[in-house]
Amino acid sequence: MRIYKVGGAVRDRLLGKPVTDIDWVVVGATTEEMLAKGFRPVGADFPVFLHPKSGEEYALARTERKSGRGYGGFTFHASPEVTLEEDLIRRDLTINAMAEDDQQNLTDPYHGQRDLEARLLRHVSPAFAEDPLRVLRVARFAARYAALGFTVAPETLELMRQLSESGELEALTPERSWKEISRALMEDQPQVFVEVLRACGALKVLMPEVDALFGVPQPPAHHPEIDTGAHTLSVLQQAATHKQPLTVRWACLLHDLGKGLTPEEEWPRHIAHEFKGLKLIKAVNERFKVPRDCQELALLVGEYHTHGHRALELKPSTLLELLQSFDIYRRPQRFEEFIAACEMDARGREGLEERSYPQADYLRGAATAARSVAVQPLLEKGFKGPELGEAIKRERLKALKAYKETAST
Ligand code: ATP
Ligand code: MG
Repeated sequence: MRIYKVGGAVRDRLLGKPVTDIDWVVVGATTEEMLAKGFRPVGADFPVFLHPKSGEEYALARTERKSGRGYGGFTFHASPEVTLEEDLIRRDLTINAMAEDDQQNLTDPYHGQRDLEARLLRHVSPAFAEDPLRVLRVARFAARYAALGFTVAPETLELMRQLSESGELEALTPERSWKEISRALMEDQPQVFVEVLRACGALKVLMPEVDALFGVPQPPAHHPEIDTGAHTLSVLQQAATHKQPLTVRWACLLHDLGKGLTPEEEWPRHIAHEFKGLKLIKAVNERFKVPRDCQELALLVGEYHTHGHRALELKPSTLLELLQSFDIYRRPQRFEEFIAACEMDARGREGLEERSYPQADYLRGAATAARSVAVQPLLEKGFKGPELGEAIKRERLKALKAYKETAST
């Protein structure tokens, strides 16, 4: 049997990037031989094994044929006769379809090295169209390597456009899609992911609610960039620049969905877009079976981001309602993430990226003031049950009034 490094490890070494996980392909071996060498099978009917010591993935060279919709609709053929070139041709991009032996001799039948130099994300063969997930993968790689100057080859974008129009994207499982979306959002230029999806028509299929924001104007006084889609991309970019976690990035992407519902005659104003957007945020969350923490933050940011921006003008009672909605007493981290998302929203405006956001510290101070109310003295005064709850609220309101006064002097 012959063993080669493949995929990302080869690509990233040639790019001079750190290699984290290594995928291997094994040519000329049978499942029995792999098991005899101590490799552990990964799945029942999948010719992939884990190395007994390193735990890295070793896949038998295989060919694939499409036999139905979605990813389940694939038949694999792995046998000792499958060549390295046959295995490489089923891969998505030429830069991902190179192999390397232990002497670092490169096998590159589809000119991945040439495309690395040309900074092009190009599909290997027309079989690209057999797995619609590749549309998301290409957009993700575009986001990851945008800083290096990579773009999607025009003929690949065209194929992605055809795939998006074919209805095949709808056959993707939520789990596979979310894995790509969440990884793409964590790249340094996540906005490129959205841009590429939009350019090939996939955004309209996957997240029509986000796609609808492009071409929707906002008031130039608050939003010099005017276009809501452009604003959303800038907010996402700010979130990446400021190294925000996935929860915040997801919330940033969805925070203004309600603006896509505003009747044209109301443009560029978007009255109550925060509330109107909630059902759209919920729909996107459910479509991709998004993890709970991401779902929750997106909904809260959608509903309350304008409160965040207006923090310094809020009445103490409104401020208290905001803090209560976030359950800041038990969920301090979530409120911090809300503040971060609001700040990214404010910075994601043309020419205002560096403007300070005093609302952030003001909100933190308000949370501290509300939290400082001690329950023990109220218990000692004999408050119980719902009355205790009311008494705590009254004390918190007092604390916030005092906070607002000191903060404004
Ligand atoms: P990363 O750095 O994100 O791990 P990678 O290129 O190693 O990038 P993996 O998802 O680990 O990506 O996949 C390893 C290799 O398997 C890819 O380089 C590619 O050749 C191939 N591959 C993975 N998924 C697909 C797919 N859906 N269609 C075609 N080829 C794929
Ligand atoms: Mg990999």
